[in-house]
Amino acid sequence: MRNYHRWVALAGAAMLTITNVSVSMADVVGGGESLETAVTVSGPEDSGPADTAGDGPQQPGAPLGGQETPGQENQPQEGTASRVIRVGDNQPSNSGSGAASGGSGDSSSGVDYSQGPGFFQGGGQPDPSQTALPGQNEDIQIADVSNPLVQTTAKYSYDQMVQDINALQQKYSSRMHVNPIGTSLDGRTIYDCIIGNQGAPRHILIQAGIHGREYLNPMLLMQQMEMILVNYDTGSFHGNPLSSMFDQVAIHFVPMTNPDGITISQFGIDGIRSQQLKDAISACYVMDSAAGRGGDLGVYLSKWKANAQGVDLNLNFDALWAEVYSTGYPSYSGFKGTAPGSEPETQAMMNLYSSQYPWKAVIHYHSMGNVIYWDIAGNKVQPESAQLANLMSVVTGGYQMLPSEGGGGYKDWIQLGNNPVPSVTLETGRVSCPIPISEYALIWAQNRLTWAYAMEWAMGR
Ligand SMILES: [Zn+2]
Repeated sequence: MRNYHRWVALAGAAMLTITNVSVSMADVVGGGESLETAVTVSGPEDSGPADTAGDGPQQPGAPLGGQETPGQENQPQEGTASRVIRVGDNQPSNSGSGAASGGSGDSSSGVDYSQGPGFFQGGGQPDPSQTALPGQNEDIQIADVSNPLVQTTAKYSYDQMVQDINALQQKYSSRMHVNPIGTSLDGRTIYDCIIGNQGAPRHILIQAGIHGREYLNPMLLMQQMEMILVNYDTGSFHGNPLSSMFDQVAIHFVPMTNPDGITISQFGIDGIRSQQLKDAISACYVMDSAAGRGGDLGVYLSKWKANAQGVDLNLNFDALWAEVYSTGYPSYSGFKGTAPGSEPETQAMMNLYSSQYPWKAVIHYHSMGNVIYWDIAGNKVQPESAQLANLMSVVTGGYQMLPSEGGGGYKDWIQLGNNPVPSVTLETGRVSCPIPISEYALIWAQNRLTWAYAMEWAMGR
């Protein structure tokens, strides 16, 4: 790939610059959390200090099994790192006066992405240190959407997503096909939105929102989709017209894999319709409280990761499942279920991948940590996964590549299965979930074009 090596060399510099974006402490620090608790960055999803230092419910995100010690290694869940990561210089400024003023608002306005992914220029003041960042000077003609249908909002809900999918489908009916691929326990449809030629010889899957509290990522995917649709006929990437790229590669977006879990994290038990499931959630709270993982109910529910009966879907896939460390009971987080593939949401994603599409790559969005999990013991596509992860690391401006341990995840299942393809997990955000909307401008800047690079990569395979 053109300039690829230059990007690799510059990734470190990009990370430094991009992560200097200022974050308003008022935005980050909510609910009486101490400053250092709320802004301790750097750990990957579920890791230590941000969630373990006196944060509301009994350390959601702390290691399972009772001995929850602040600062302890993170639990073996979803893409789990083998160690707690310090992202070095990747900390946000505590001064509130970072380099890029565009990053402190609650929308992406004011940010100039015109020079490519990872190029984050704020305030209209050219910064000499940003003159050679990844993507800059690349020939990329893909504009952000003016007057978007998919609005940036702090709690992007399932209902809003459905409304937006319908609106996009109406407006761009020839470019997007929407297929229901399953139904959640509480009766919400899980959607696969296919953009491009459905008969293309290469297909990519991008999915998000398999964990409830990680609800900025569904909005990210919806905004990626709208940007693609708006630019479909006029945009180009490295000189290739998007329309021609989408003839060759179709992208499937599953923006919200776990709509019930997201509803619980956003709206609490009241968001769930089934009385049986409401009771199941309450039972989780009782059991988690007994295990020292309860705490304030409102905070507890906001940290919800599982589906509506307390199964962590990203531990429920048949990938080293027997060895996956799990709570022994349904919980807001960390229960792998009673059998692999036991949940309807898990089955929907398994069925989608097992269908006849010629998959070339899968990207999974999670939060948090600004890291990429790309491997698993027994990975059948290790070199290719590393290659894809490395590319994503560069184009996100320096998300750090980490191997995974554990298992049970969708990524793991794809890499270990009968039809393995490169599969990587991108963990967005620098603060613990649910991530405040003030972080979104940076997340968007880092991820707005990941799909295009993945497409280009797939076209060469
Ligand atoms: Zn996750």
